[in-house]
Amino acid sequence: MVIDKENTNIVSVLVPYPVDKAYSYGVDRALPKGSYVLVPLGPREVIGVVWDAPEGGADKPKKLKNVLHVFEDVPPMPAVHRQFLSRLASYTMSPLGNVLKMAMSVPRAFDPPPPVTGYTLSTKEMDEGLTAKRRKVIEAMEYGQSYRPAPLARKAGCSVSVIKTLAKDGLLREVLMDAESPCSDPNPNYDPVTLNEHQQTAAQKLNEQEGFCVSLLDGVTGSGKTEVYFSAVSKALREGKQVLILLPEIALSNAFLDRFEDRYGCAPALWHSDLTPAQRRKTWRAVAAGESKVVIGARSSLMLPFANLGCIIVDEEHDPSYKQEEGVIYNARDMAVLRAALGKISCVLVSATPSMETMHNVKDGRYQMVHLPARFGGALMPDIHLIDMKEEREDAQHFLSQSLKTAMEETLERGEQALLFLNRRGYAPLTLCRHCGHRYECDRCTAWLVEHKSQHNLQCHHCGYVVRKPKACPECGEADSLVACGPGVERIFDEVQETFPEAKSIVLSSDTADDPKELKALLKRIVNKEIDIIIGTQIIAKGHHFPKLTCVGVVDADLGLTGGDLRATERTWQLLHQVSGRAGRAEDKGHVYLQTYYPDNKVMLALQSDDREGLIDIELMEREGAFMPPFSRLVGIIISGHKEQEVIHFAQELARCAPYGDTVRTLGPAPAPLLRLRNKYRYRFLVVADKKIDIQKTIKHWTSQVKLPSKLRLTVDIDPYSFL
Ligand code: ADP
Ligand code: ZN
Repeated sequence: MVIDKENTNIVSVLVPYPVDKAYSYGVDRALPKGSYVLVPLGPREVIGVVWDAPEGGADKPKKLKNVLHVFEDVPPMPAVHRQFLSRLASYTMSPLGNVLKMAMSVPRAFDPPPPVTGYTLSTKEMDEGLTAKRRKVIEAMEYGQSYRPAPLARKAGCSVSVIKTLAKDGLLREVLMDAESPCSDPNPNYDPVTLNEHQQTAAQKLNEQEGFCVSLLDGVTGSGKTEVYFSAVSKALREGKQVLILLPEIALSNAFLDRFEDRYGCAPALWHSDLTPAQRRKTWRAVAAGESKVVIGARSSLMLPFANLGCIIVDEEHDPSYKQEEGVIYNARDMAVLRAALGKISCVLVSATPSMETMHNVKDGRYQMVHLPARFGGALMPDIHLIDMKEEREDAQHFLSQSLKTAMEETLERGEQALLFLNRRGYAPLTLCRHCGHRYECDRCTAWLVEHKSQHNLQCHHCGYVVRKPKACPECGEADSLVACGPGVERIFDEVQETFPEAKSIVLSSDTADDPKELKALLKRIVNKEIDIIIGTQIIAKGHHFPKLTCVGVVDADLGLTGGDLRATERTWQLLHQVSGRAGRAEDKGHVYLQTYYPDNKVMLALQSDDREGLIDIELMEREGAFMPPFSRLVGIIISGHKEQEVIHFAQELARCAPYGDTVRTLGPAPAPLLRLRNKYRYRFLVVADKKIDIQKTIKHWTSQVKLPSKLRLTVDIDPYSFL
């Protein structure tokens, strides 16, 4: 509808730009809040959302501009979603318009639906000499009916190209049809499994609550957490509501999607960054219309304008990738809880290694604990062996201990598979010149370049900078003088090939499998036992199930412990536990070997004795003593700019009025550990605050006292995960 009549109403419209509030526009009639409208903004025409008027009513500018168009075929954004975006903006201290932008990041969502080419039988007589495939297509069709190509191909059991050639030969006729309807309804009764007793109790506990409720669904890998939370999915579906399942690495979740389809008879809608614009459009609209019942997505799917959301599942709730570190900095796990609270619905956090924040909320009674005590079907947990590298390290050029190599050998002899885990891409983390000691560093970052032998180059893992591997040292000119220090997965691969020349080994990292299709093929080869030894980064740690994998070796179990970061203990435990969970998931017993220089470290001991409660208790006690999260709230403030002196000067000015008192302390400014990133210098403050105070207000008051020079940037990171 185009607006041209007299405009008697004033509406507030929020636009997806870095603005803090909605602007006023005129329109000829009353519009429901949440309507999507086209409005002029400076020289542009942009799509915004009719928002709640600011307190005291919409301001009336002298020259009121008019709404240009109302998108009446898109359902208005629900009030609860608008409220959610507002709360997310104020919690993260981001401009509201930037948050709206995340919810509308689908440029083509408002175009009219594109028609698709369909096919109908032409009147031409059926040719006797048809190939079997072509005949199947014709037989699958009825005269007078139109068919979309993909479903027709499925029905006839051929590829779409067969249909296209039939059309070219005049046996089929092309017709324009409406765009394909979005995914069909998942059916909770399609193929449900029978839960065992523990699982039934857990499912009952999850589903007996009405209204807002957060549950932690906790249990070791393989205990059936997924099956149990599927019962919450089914409950919401039976009530006619939508469900959102958040997964940390959606591009890697093929197995999960197949499993969903087996249970519910149709594929769920997907939401992640690799979708085509057409897929994004279709899903966004189907979610907004309430037609898409189940969305499986990365953290950004929380921003979709669900028409009738009934339940949110956050799988692997402890996963750090739920934290978005750029643009609007937010933690999708925490925001899922907020969204559930506003919508008065249930939120299920799922993990075998819950975060300390979540455990604290459980212990304080804010979250309900739903626990699965054992692996499904009686599969045993793997045995964990600690290997003391102080005693077993052979020389500086080798990284696998004799104990681990022996265990691998025995595994291969039994016809089983081994996995070596090292969370480091490339060949070596540091490369230097043997002659002069020159270290290869990134030109733009405070970081060493990592050699990637397979690609013959050196790479910065922070900014993506790549140089070809030089023939001679740029410092002293000595030829062929590069030496590698420390291991990456490529180097472990070399050592494995040297030790087990007969075995079939592969490296699995984001370098070798950056394309989901490629990864899927590789995973299939592992399941089919075409591979004996897998050397992988964390890409392999999650979710996969390899029945013949019984031996897991962690090359450097200490890797996450160094650096002294707040979550070092927690993260190391979570990652090592997760990797260990890859071993022996079927009938064969699994063994895990942790190579460590600190066999007495609390994490190693807790893993070995499977004493998770002990570790959680100690960790929470230490955090409480140090007044660290989850007992306090942290805020990271990062000042960055191209000229270090300007950054320091501004940081010092800020320091003079930094909040300091009984309930809040400010540390810094200090040069960030990653002092230079993409040619910008970075200085940090860390604010430690009592959780009872309104920290956003405190920070706003503080930072508004000093004017930020236009060349500098100030980033606020509420509840930081990264301290680099
Ligand atoms: P988790 O999510 O805790 O790792 P899953 O839900 O993936 O556990 O279950 C582990 C394995 O056990 C899967 O292969 C799953 O299909 C199977 N499983 C779990 N519970 C049942 C059940 N009640 N009936 C049949 N199979 C089950
Ligand atoms: Zn760099």
